[in-house]
Amino acid sequence: MIRERKSGIIPSSLLTTSQYDGEDVKVQLLEDQHEKCYICERRLITDFEIEHYRSQKNYPILTNTWSNLFLSCRYCNGKKRNSFDDNIYPSVINIEDEIIQRIDFEKNEAVFLSMIEDVIHRNTINMLHVLYNGRLIHSGKQIIRTIKEKRFFDYTKQIMNNFLEKVNAFLMEPTPANRALVAAELSIEQEMLGFKYWVIRDNHLETEFEDEIVWNKH
Ligand SMILES: [Zn+2]
Repeated sequence: MIRERKSGIIPSSLLTTSQYDGEDVKVQLLEDQHEKCYICERRLITDFEIEHYRSQKNYPILTNTWSNLFLSCRYCNGKKRNSFDDNIYPSVINIEDEIIQRIDFEKNEAVFLSMIEDVIHRNTINMLHVLYNGRLIHSGKQIIRTIKEKRFFDYTKQIMNNFLEKVNAFLMEPTPANRALVAAELSIEQEMLGFKYWVIRDNHLETEFEDEIVWNKH
């Protein structure tokens, strides 16, 4: 997860109709979020849904409020439901700075940590755990994921493996060509920038790529 941009222009259907899912809302959200799910950062082709940051069930008054609407994939929307209403608000806080996001390939799990101990950080981390590591059912040291959870995590690992190969190539040979390959993976349209951000930081490359890792920051 990274900080999201949210347009200050409210789509007109929210003001003139009782719908929250008008075409203009979808178009604006796709543009603001660079066509990615704001939670898992996968590219959305047709499988996108309007997600209520604060759920319709618990906060019905916010159902049609622009600042409460984000675009997510069906997988994330289904996992979040009404269970995680008090998360970090995505377009105000630099989530990538406040939540450490890593893939532990050896243990086959995603790891999320924060220096800040409060409800919104804890809830966001709990939600990310459920998304990436399944329902937190451990059998010995093995995480048991459903088939959907496994496919979701395998896809994340595939993207991150590809990125790690490019970062390692740059660390071995810091040529302009190898640098360009890493930089291209960090553009705002790319997937999994929250995880990539921590690969850059863990390898002390944040100065080298400082221009590339400023997504949506002001
Ligand atoms: Zn998603």
